[in-house]
Amino acid sequence: MIKSFINSDTGTIKDRIMSFLQKLAKRTKELAEQAAKDAASAYDEIKVSDEQRAERYSICQTCPNFVQLTTTCTKCGCFMAAKTYLSSAECPVGKWGKVIILKQEK
Ligand code: SF4
Repeated sequence: MIKSFINSDTGTIKDRIMSFLQKLAKRTKELAEQAAKDAASAYDEIKVSDEQRAERYSICQTCPNFVQLTTTCTKCGCFMAAKTYLSSAECPVGKWGKVIILKQEK
């Protein structure tokens, strides 16, 4: 893109800069959209099922290490409302463990 800008001899410098900025904005938007799709896909791959998450969270809610007000654990300091979604997460005192998620063929 920069090479075509430098080598272009058509239009005024203002036109060339505007064209370059429009192409840059378009490409930036495309990359941002792709990054959002990749992030959503990655999240799906590391997230446990809603049932597994509910089971983990209910264990935390009855645990003496759970702080209801902040939804944090006094042992690990994590926000359990979020941590319980992550497949690689585990309770620091062994009340619930990691979940292995098998990838499905697309
Ligand atoms: S992660 Fe474990 S120790 Fe922490 S609140 Fe949940 S069950 Fe309790």
